[in-house]
Amino acid sequence: MKNYHFAYHVPFIPSFGKAHYPEIKCACGGILKYQRRRKATIWSVFDKVVYKRAIYAGCVCEQGCAPVDQRYGIEPGKVTSGLARLLALIGVNHALDEGRKSLKEFLLFEVSENTVRAETQKLGELQRQADADLVKATQSESSLQEREKSQPPAPDILYGSIDAAKVRVEPRDKKEKAVENREKWRDLKVGCWYEGEIVPKSQHSARQKDKAQREGVILRAKNQKYFCDIEKAGQFGKLFWATGCAVGADRARVLVFICDGAIWIWNLIVHYYQNAIQIVDWYHAADRLKRIADEAFANTDERRAWREKATEDL
Ligand SMILES: [Zn+2]
Repeated sequence: MKNYHFAYHVPFIPSFGKAHYPEIKCACGGILKYQRRRKATIWSVFDKVVYKRAIYAGCVCEQGCAPVDQRYGIEPGKVTSGLARLLALIGVNHALDEGRKSLKEFLLFEVSENTVRAETQKLGELQRQADADLVKATQSESSLQEREKSQPPAPDILYGSIDAAKVRVEPRDKKEKAVENREKWRDLKVGCWYEGEIVPKSQHSARQKDKAQREGVILRAKNQKYFCDIEKAGQFGKLFWATGCAVGADRARVLVFICDGAIWIWNLIVHYYQNAIQIVDWYHAADRLKRIADEAFANTDERRAWREKATEDL
C-alpha cells in the first residue's frame, strides 16, 4: 500500500492560476514551449472533476507535458491515486460488484465494476512488483554486503508467524472455466513480523485479567508487517527472507517464531534463521495433547486426568 503513490519531480509552477512559464525543461533534456491551457477530466473521491492546465510541447523528442498532471500524479481520463486506493481496498475486501455497491453508499456516486477490478489489479501488480524488487535485492550477495556495511538498526526482540489457508481461485474467463481438473483451491501463504509490548493493567480485558493473575505479564503484538504469496513454499521462502531483511530479522538479538506444527514452516525457519527460538502456538500444542490422550487412554477419567496434567505442565 505504501508504494501506491506517484512521485514526480517537476519545477513548481503556479498551476491553477493563469500564470505559466514560456518554456520549461523536458525530461529528455530538451526545451518545451508553452502551448495553451487545455481541459482535462479525472475521477476523484469528489466525483468527476474537470480542470484546465498549461500544456507544453515542441521538444525534439515529440513528448508533450502537463506539469500540473505530473506534479499531482494525475492521469487525465483516469481515477486519482486517492480514489484508486479506495477502489483497490474495496476490491480486496469484497466481491467486486458487492464492493462497488457499498462504495456508492460512501462516495454518493457510482463506479463501474470494471474500474474497481482494474484498480484492484493495478494495486496487486504494484505490490507484486515491490515484493519482487525486495526479493531480488536480498538474493544478491553484493546488496546484502552493502546493507551489512550501512548497519541498519536491529530490533531487540522480534517475532514472526507463518500460516497457510486455502483460497478459492475463480476462473478469469470462459476458456479457463472450460478446463477440466482446473485448480480451484490454492494455498495462500501468509506471514507476519511483529514486536511485542506489555498491555497496561488499565487496558486489560476480562480474559486478560485472569491470564495476568496466572502469568503476570500480558503481551500484545505491535508494528505488524504482513506478507503473502500464493506460490510454493520455496518461492514463499524468498519473500520470507526478503521481508525479514526489511525488518532486521537476521540482526535481531532474539528472534522468536510462533506457528502451528506444519513441517514446511519449520523447514523454512531452520533454513533461513537457524538460531531462532521456535514455539508451537498454544492452540495447536494443546490440541496435540488432546489427540494423544484420546489415543492413549480408553478410560474417560484417566484420559481427562492425564490431559489436564499435561496441559498444565505445557
Ligand atoms: Zn524532450
